[in-house]
Amino acid sequence: MDRSSRIKGVLAGGSDGWEVFHKSRAMIAAGVPVTELTIGEHDIRTAAPILQEMHRSALGGHTGYAAVPGTDALRDRIAKRAEERTGVPTTRDNVVVTPGGQAGLFAAFMAVCDPGDAALYIDPYYATYPGTLRAAGARAVAVEARADHGFLPRRADLAAAAGGAKALLINTPNNPTGVIYGRETLEEIAQVCQDHDLWLVSDEVYDTQIWEGTHLSPRALPGMEERTLVIGSMSKSHAMTGSRCGWIIGPKNIIADLIDLATHTNYGVPGFIQDASDYALAQGAAFEEEISAPFARRRALAQRILSTQNVVRSVPSQGAMYLMLDIRATGLSGSEFADALLEDQHIAVMPGESFGAAAAGHVRVAMTIEDSAFEAALRDLCRFAEGRASRAA
Ligand code: PMP
Repeated sequence: MDRSSRIKGVLAGGSDGWEVFHKSRAMIAAGVPVTELTIGEHDIRTAAPILQEMHRSALGGHTGYAAVPGTDALRDRIAKRAEERTGVPTTRDNVVVTPGGQAGLFAAFMAVCDPGDAALYIDPYYATYPGTLRAAGARAVAVEARADHGFLPRRADLAAAAGGAKALLINTPNNPTGVIYGRETLEEIAQVCQDHDLWLVSDEVYDTQIWEGTHLSPRALPGMEERTLVIGSMSKSHAMTGSRCGWIIGPKNIIADLIDLATHTNYGVPGFIQDASDYALAQGAAFEEEISAPFARRRALAQRILSTQNVVRSVPSQGAMYLMLDIRATGLSGSEFADALLEDQHIAVMPGESFGAAAAGHVRVAMTIEDSAFEAALRDLCRFAEGRASRAA
């Protein structure tokens, strides 16, 4: 039986970019210890009080169909948080709760693109982006943000690609680069969106992981509220990756459409997960800081280690739980480096190429293991790179 072109088109015959991860998992299954610095998942579990609230809610009976748009309480909480953080008046009618940020991304593109419409995304990109856009029927068009421009998209490149396009997807703080888009970059993006009548989908799932500078939501820029959909999630900010709870914030009419889409696709998010998310958000910024603190600490650790050598260079890491390392001095591609590091040192990192052509010659290191193991792995990685660089010289 033939399958739909839509489903076959998700990966477009390419790979999902996770080969090193799968190989390291196979090594672990075969009993080889591997230090995994691949996946963006905390080394802590969801905090016990959040789980207790989940338990209380489920035992209290919130196990039937929950309100499809999200509970009033959670939508109000998300709206209030967005308003406090951006100054943009936001109510529950601007919010739909989704089963994670990933489902939010897919739904957002279902809502703004017709089949075949061009949707722009920035390369380097979070690995699922092009497949998500294609799954929603859009034509995924990459715009490179080059290493020599600090992995920031350039206005001229965006404008050149924007003619006839329907939407632009950005992500700040950025996975995989760790770069945060400053006001100037966001204003240029906003201008391109307005000049070319594009929807802006702004993936802000790392908005609590800020190491340098500040996070600015483009929804707060003049003229952007009516054309911006913000993707949020409990996954990264509250160590709730498995709970699958996220949201979309946007103009009321498209949120109403997205609620109709939810009714016909996922039928909402379990009530006990929503109650636990509401409880978690009610803990406020101090709790969010506690969750992000290990990454801030490891980033500082990494900066110290990297400053002692000059083969591996770090892209200025301003936010998110990753370090993007430039390993071009070794003469290897990101994929060759990641493969060799796994073979030789049993350390798994993601090749930059998994996140697009613009990240070639780089590897992404997730700061997601305990400090001393992280420090040891990073020292080994640097030593390994130095060895390769002197061989190449
Ligand atoms: N956006 C980005 C940039 C991500 O890195 C991730 C997860 N790694 C997601 C969205 C999706 O996260 P979730 O579905 O868990 O909210």
